[in-house]
Amino acid sequence: MRRYSAFAIAREGLRYHQGWERAWASPEPKKRYDAIVVGAGGHGLATAFYLGKNHGITNVAVIEKGWLGGGNTGRNTTIIRSNYLQDPSAAIYEKSRSLYETMSQDVNMNVMFSPRGVIMLAQTHHEVRGYQRTAHANALQGVETTFIGPQKVKELVPIINLEGPRYPVLGGLWQPRGGTARHDAVAWGYARACSAMGMDIIQNCAVTGIETEGGQVKAVNTTKGRIETGKLALVVAGHSSDLAQMAGFRLPIESVALQALVSEPIKPCMDVVVMANTVHGYMSQSDKGEMVIGGGTDHYNNYTQRGSFHHIEETVRALVETFPMISRLKMLRQWGGIVDMTGDRSPLISKTPVGGIFVNCGWGTGGFKAIPGSGWAMAELVAKGEPGPLAADFGIERFREGRFIDESVAAGVAH
Ligand SMILES: Cc1cc2nc3c(=O)[nH]c(=O)nc-3n(C[C@H](O)[C@H](O)[C@H](O)COP(=O)(O)OP(=O)(O)OC[C@H]3O[C@@H](n4cnc5c(N)ncnc54)[C@H](O)[C@@H]3O)c2cc1C
Repeated sequence: MRRYSAFAIAREGLRYHQGWERAWASPEPKKRYDAIVVGAGGHGLATAFYLGKNHGITNVAVIEKGWLGGGNTGRNTTIIRSNYLQDPSAAIYEKSRSLYETMSQDVNMNVMFSPRGVIMLAQTHHEVRGYQRTAHANALQGVETTFIGPQKVKELVPIINLEGPRYPVLGGLWQPRGGTARHDAVAWGYARACSAMGMDIIQNCAVTGIETEGGQVKAVNTTKGRIETGKLALVVAGHSSDLAQMAGFRLPIESVALQALVSEPIKPCMDVVVMANTVHGYMSQSDKGEMVIGGGTDHYNNYTQRGSFHHIEETVRALVETFPMISRLKMLRQWGGIVDMTGDRSPLISKTPVGGIFVNCGWGTGGFKAIPGSGWAMAELVAKGEPGPLAADFGIERFREGRFIDESVAAGVAH
């Protein structure tokens, strides 16, 4: 596959862009693969990418029931940060954030990583203490964050209203190298790189059953036929419980809708990401000028990919009191995704009761930022059969052993 470069753009510009190759192939499935990844979202594709890049395993299929990147990976608000409290979380999210810094070069696709900085506002004295604690923990973990006062918040975000009607802004947790990236490009970049390594990305192909024999995975049944494998990675976010059921085990996962919306484009007015977790809304400005807005999850389990109306109202109310200048903005689009929530709001990167089957899920409302680190850790688990240091704490057994990685403050309401 030819490399993308400034020279290639110039060359194609001179010949009416006729010479671009397809970014990835669309093959029919083979009878057998060394490893199958179910789910061509960011986490599934990153798993396949690092199986090839770090472990030399390239006889791999990524099977996707819709189009690649059409799940939560293409539906999120793209916030990237690593300011988590617990050590295992900080380690994997910071690994991920640092991989975002070089992702465009690693996959040879511009993923538009923009480390513009992320502020999580503190609007109650509890939040001030909580975020100060997180800043201290992050200092020990090697994650660069600081607690800043209200004047610094105002300097970074001139459009903010420090004296909100319900809660004042008392400060914030500031991560200067957090930011955003183009979500589709992350999926496309990994897909192209996997295809270049000879892997098969099979779209419009749902997994409908999983065959096991003697407690070991044997094959998957799909809408394009039966495919054999000895290693099966289930990376399907909100549909993880369905796939686990096909293999005969249960997961501690609930699926709920989370939604987002974008406004009409306006002139640049905010060049950082702001999250207001007490009033519960967050916002950034896209390169096109749209304000990208999100809030909380629905309070009941569902698979609607839509989200309920009262959440839009709650989110917009929170943001209008935080940024009064957006009160007359028109909203262009609203959509939802099905997020996979665990009880401690931390992910599963784990072996399962069936030999050869591994799961990666539970990233809930905040897994976009984790894509490269998660793929790195999951590939190691699939290749070696045992978790490496990044994944070691994220096994399913922690729910049996009561060894939770409680990130409900960092991840339960934020993204
Ligand atoms: C509105 C919203 C806002 C968000 N905002 C942020 C944010 O700002 N920052 C952040 O870090 N995270 C955010 N997230 C969370 C983030 O999007 C997810 O955690 C992440 O994208 C999950 O990626 P994934 O690859 O695991 O799942 P997905 O991208 O959902 O991929 C799973 C794939 O599996 C496929 N699949 C399912 N069942 C089958 C089957 N039977 N056979 C074959 N394929 C199947 C699906 O079609 C899907 O494409 C947000 C999520 C939403 C919905």
